[in-house]
Amino acid sequence: MASATTATADPGNADHPPRYRGRFAPSPTGLLHLGSLFAAVASFLRAREQCGEWLVRIEDIDPPREIAGASDAILRQLEQAALHWDGPVLRQSEHRERYRDTAARLQQQGSAYRCSCSRRQIASHPDSGPNGTRYPGTCRDRPPPAAARAALRVRSPAAAVIIDDALQGTASVDIDATTGDVVIWRKEDLPAYHLAVVADDAWQGITEVVRGLDLFSATAPHIHLQHLLALPVPGYAHLPVLVNAQGEKLSKQTHAAPVVAQEMSAAIGRCLSLLGWPVPGEMAGARPSELLSAAHGQIDWTKLHGRTQLTQP
Ligand SMILES: [Zn+2]
Repeated sequence: MASATTATADPGNADHPPRYRGRFAPSPTGLLHLGSLFAAVASFLRAREQCGEWLVRIEDIDPPREIAGASDAILRQLEQAALHWDGPVLRQSEHRERYRDTAARLQQQGSAYRCSCSRRQIASHPDSGPNGTRYPGTCRDRPPPAAARAALRVRSPAAAVIIDDALQGTASVDIDATTGDVVIWRKEDLPAYHLAVVADDAWQGITEVVRGLDLFSATAPHIHLQHLLALPVPGYAHLPVLVNAQGEKLSKQTHAAPVVAQEMSAAIGRCLSLLGWPVPGEMAGARPSELLSAAHGQIDWTKLHGRTQLTQP
């Protein structure tokens, strides 16, 4: 494994852009299934073909949803898949104070405010969108009492956020009209997903975020936070989501099976095939490391342009 320092990314300049740095950021809520392995393989190959670095981050900031031992089991799966990462693994649970400082900064600059609304209060509001998916801004100008347990939300920008996605093209998103002001610190006194991701992508010097299209709705709030915190905006490349024969996204909820060691080569082969590079017949029985080496530089990413779904082979 090459050594990489976190927190001190090469900032680059106009003539020498920073070295490519990608990442894979699983949550330890279960083992990797084909869908999550697909995202790992794609982001790994994109980093390696740019002669860049590939980091792994464990997003373990939601203890109630986590499964004991899943973090280490995921890392073992990545090793079995020959997806060798650079530098130390970042575990978000070890960085809560850094996220707290970032949240405090947003609050001090007037970008974030306290919100004590319950899920039910939000869902019953006429402006909360389907299933209460949009925060209607109830507490934005009416702060809850100081003693109330409260989350922190960040004010949405007045203008639309432009996303220039390497695979999905350009999109313009009005955050206030879609999600509304997003949570950056939870009522349970835990950092929220959006804040931790943005803080860490900058802290680790990530230059391109490669992830599933199911996370696309998080991208506009992330870019907004990067602007508020004066952080560099990384590139984004959203991969099509893997679906089963019934058209359901592969996930723990749809009972996608974890990839076990003895099936790893076949699973890597399926991921490469989904990326438009079917494993040549003479490579039958090849190990994951051999498959990944052979695929190096062979992926035609333009084949994924605009693709939102791929059916699991
Ligand atoms: Zn509220």
